[in-house]
Amino acid sequence: MISFAFRKHSRTTLLCDGLNPTTKKETRSLSRFCFLKKRGMSESNYEKICEVPTDYGITFTKYKSNKTGLTVALADIEAPLVNGYFALATESFDDFGCPHTLEHLVFLGSEQFPYKGVLDTLANRAIAQGTNAWTDVDHTCYTITTAGSEGFLKLLPTYVDHILYPTLTDSGYHTEVHHINGKGEDAGVVYSEMQGCQNLGEDRIHLRMRRIMFPEGCGYRSETGGLMERLRELSVEKIREYHRNYYRPDNLCLIITGTVDHAKVLKALEAVEANIISKGPLPAMQRPWIETGNFPSLEKDIVETVLFPEEDESMGTVLVAWNGPMCHDYLQQKALEVLNVYLTESPVSVLQKEFVEIEDPLCTDVEFHATDHLKTTIMLTVSSVPIEEMEGFPNHLFATLQRLVEQNEIDMSRMKNIIEKEMLKLLDDIERDAHDTAAAICISDFLYGEPDGRDLKESVKDQEFLNVLAGFQVSDWLDVLKKWYLDSPHVTILGKPSAQFADQLAEEEKKRIQKQRTDLGETKLEELQNKLEEAMTKNDVELPHDILENFTIPPVSSINFINVLTARNDDGCTVKINNEIQDYVNKDASTKIPLFIQFDHVQSRFVKVSAHISTASVPSHLLPYTRLLLKAIFSLPVERDGEIISYEDVVTGLSEDTVEYDAGLGTSSGFRELLVFTVKTEETKYQKGIQWLQDILWNTQFTAERLKIVAFQILNDIPQAKRDGHSMASAAMRALQFDASKSANAARNVLFQSNFLQDVVQKLDNDPSSVINDLSIYREALCHPDNIRIHVTGNILKLNAPRTSFAPICSRMQHPQQALVPVTLAQNLLSPAGQEPGQIGAVVSLPSIENSFSLQTVKGPSNFEDPDIPALLVMAELLDTMEGIFWKFIRGQGLAYSCFLSTDVEAALISFTIYKSPDVSKAFAQAKLVIDQLANNEMEIEPSSVDGAKSAVIYSLVARENTMDRAALQSFVNQVLKQVPASYNRNLLSAIQATTMEDLQHVLKKYFVNMFTPGKCNIVAVSSPSKSEEIRDGFGLLGFKLESMNLNDFSI
Ligand SMILES: [Zn+2]
Repeated sequence: MISFAFRKHSRTTLLCDGLNPTTKKETRSLSRFCFLKKRGMSESNYEKICEVPTDYGITFTKYKSNKTGLTVALADIEAPLVNGYFALATESFDDFGCPHTLEHLVFLGSEQFPYKGVLDTLANRAIAQGTNAWTDVDHTCYTITTAGSEGFLKLLPTYVDHILYPTLTDSGYHTEVHHINGKGEDAGVVYSEMQGCQNLGEDRIHLRMRRIMFPEGCGYRSETGGLMERLRELSVEKIREYHRNYYRPDNLCLIITGTVDHAKVLKALEAVEANIISKGPLPAMQRPWIETGNFPSLEKDIVETVLFPEEDESMGTVLVAWNGPMCHDYLQQKALEVLNVYLTESPVSVLQKEFVEIEDPLCTDVEFHATDHLKTTIMLTVSSVPIEEMEGFPNHLFATLQRLVEQNEIDMSRMKNIIEKEMLKLLDDIERDAHDTAAAICISDFLYGEPDGRDLKESVKDQEFLNVLAGFQVSDWLDVLKKWYLDSPHVTILGKPSAQFADQLAEEEKKRIQKQRTDLGETKLEELQNKLEEAMTKNDVELPHDILENFTIPPVSSINFINVLTARNDDGCTVKINNEIQDYVNKDASTKIPLFIQFDHVQSRFVKVSAHISTASVPSHLLPYTRLLLKAIFSLPVERDGEIISYEDVVTGLSEDTVEYDAGLGTSSGFRELLVFTVKTEETKYQKGIQWLQDILWNTQFTAERLKIVAFQILNDIPQAKRDGHSMASAAMRALQFDASKSANAARNVLFQSNFLQDVVQKLDNDPSSVINDLSIYREALCHPDNIRIHVTGNILKLNAPRTSFAPICSRMQHPQQALVPVTLAQNLLSPAGQEPGQIGAVVSLPSIENSFSLQTVKGPSNFEDPDIPALLVMAELLDTMEGIFWKFIRGQGLAYSCFLSTDVEAALISFTIYKSPDVSKAFAQAKLVIDQLANNEMEIEPSSVDGAKSAVIYSLVARENTMDRAALQSFVNQVLKQVPASYNRNLLSAIQATTMEDLQHVLKKYFVNMFTPGKCNIVAVSSPSKSEEIRDGFGLLGFKLESMNLNDFSI
């Protein structure tokens, strides 16, 4: 069973830079479990504990070493990528953050490889993009994903050496965890990370809830990330002790998911075993959590208010939490999961109808999460509650739940549908992300399950539990609701934004630093600065060349790609394709279908139909409606055959017939001038899916009532969106760089929407027909055959009438199809300042953040087949990879949490982001210095690091198409949107391998130098108001003129 954890602290923040999307994965079970029967293997230390097949095609196998206690859990998944999740149970009884700080220090070198960054450097050579890790409240997990298994197995012993025997040096602690710099400020990578999140609303609310929910002595109440005030007192000795106590082979589980030979894994671990044994026996260990995780439940209801710093005081958050069932009570957990979906998922669910889908909504979302701790915690998060409604909200919530019980109010037909869909959703999740799903199951089992695997076997019987729930009566459901939500005490936290609190926090911090500075005095400060510089030098021990050279890069031919077979609807195109899919589609020829359709055949249980529709013919003044249209369109009434279907029945019908539906802009690869409407169904419901698509596009009824509700939902979410520094930097840049009179993506900018939607809401009161008319014109402009590109993915050979199922849609088109309108690229819609970067310079004040962010753009290649692209990708990787050039010179010196480059060919721009920095102008100055030195050959690029970077770029290309779904999408993106051959990504692989040092110098001088040249690059920085002047001056010294701005200064 999968559930959600508290906020995890991760080594790097996962960001979408367009080049390494790695989330959705596909699976099918394998059947090769004969390893123990093989000759010779009986001598292995490893005993097979259990082999567990599942209803969704993954088989788990668990081994345990009888010599060292190390556990290995393997999940067989057929996919090009192999993932490792190396998990330890980490329990902590204070807020010093030993689990999190230790997680960071592990990457600074190990006994056998005492070099900072060696692991990431080798990971690249294993065809991966570095390594990562997270710290949760109950475990720490180290991760790696490689293309193919060869590199994975080669890296495995080195990784385990880092986990079990890290160097944990004083100098590593100094830079990576905490130190005081020469200016008397507290710094260090972990310290800055916690500075960035400790006072965020979400973190303050959750920590307070945990303090109330869990008693003293229970590890779940700790801040395992480390509170700033504790980090300032922490010592490396304390972390070493924590490591001795918890990082032991018998408390480590190596989870490996993907296609990998079990015998080879155990073989690769032989050296690891021998090394562990050579260290001698360890004292017995008490298993973490098993004692403390089962604590007494809450005795009474508790309500508390928690303030968080924020200038805009209009919206807050309510969190309600209950004690849930024990983690091995799978049936109760499943019952709650289903009940929670019934209560909150979809616009017709009980709580959404009561609180969200109303005029003047009381919140914009209600969401349940359950932890998977020994005793679970169930949390209900209520987002964007208008401040004046907060106090009354909890009573309203419980009165609603009480009403269900009193009036016997469970809609059994909706419940039946939810239970049926749970299994489909699980199968769909497995297709999208089998690795993470499998890992979560193994981690829970390792932390809390019986060692013999009996809990693992129980935990995967999802279908069996659902079958039991299918027999539940109304009274059974109400019993569950009463037992867990009404009869059990709960904690309610009212999270309120406060401008005064923001000022107070800033003032206190300023005073503390001033005092610290005075107390330390000049001489001590100087000493501290020297100590810091010494530590940096000590950390940077040169990595011996032979380590890299001995780690040969596996051949690309060892990677198994997913094959996609493409067919087209012949009426819509002139391309001649010869394959069995095309033959099958051609046979379905009873009528003309004047529509562009591409079919991409992959192995899947589901079929997905997406309509990609150009906004090029939407009148300019209507483009700001894009956000409202997309959010509203799947929850409007529909007119079908002269009959009106209410919006509730539309939502219910969609939920019965589909596994997923969605309306959005573009794809994960960009192309955000296309509206994309998607419906995913089982194969047997293909025609129904198409019918829904037709209803949504042609038959929806815009009503003032529904539009107003949706407009308010968007409006109420805006204050929350405006609290994020990184996304505000992008929004501000987009506002300045794109032409909102031509671009749908620019016109829907969150910075413009407040004024626009307030206007819309007023019109809906006074003159609703004007808005309805506008939206009708918008929709009419979309629904022309020449604007529409249809994409069908799934097992095409199993579809009845793959082509002619579209006949009803074609009958709705009044105009015969002409030539397809070309796909509008972002580069066609730039403002003058976007076309010629160098004219934009702004520093935007954002009161809710403590760090600063910046985004720079320069001109890049505008053609998808530009020969500079391979070298650009390799150069960007060299610069921004983990332990790469920027990492070393920027993150390593505490100037920013991370920086990254992104080449956006569609917009013809290259961007550089500095993420979470104490002062972005300093990080920028450092990046400029590095680029100048590289361009002047004052700093040299190591040939071995170029090989590593190439291999990492190759990984990112493989990861783009690592699941059936993603492989099919790439086929469409390449052939239809980019209009390049289907083999585009594979061709890029060869070009990347062929990149030379000269190519890298060429792109460095042609593009990256401009990033730091006044007049060539656009800059937007975002910072707290107190730092913005300093940042503006910092950029000024480098010749960049930045204008001071507020978010309110942006208008369409
Ligand atoms: Zn971290």
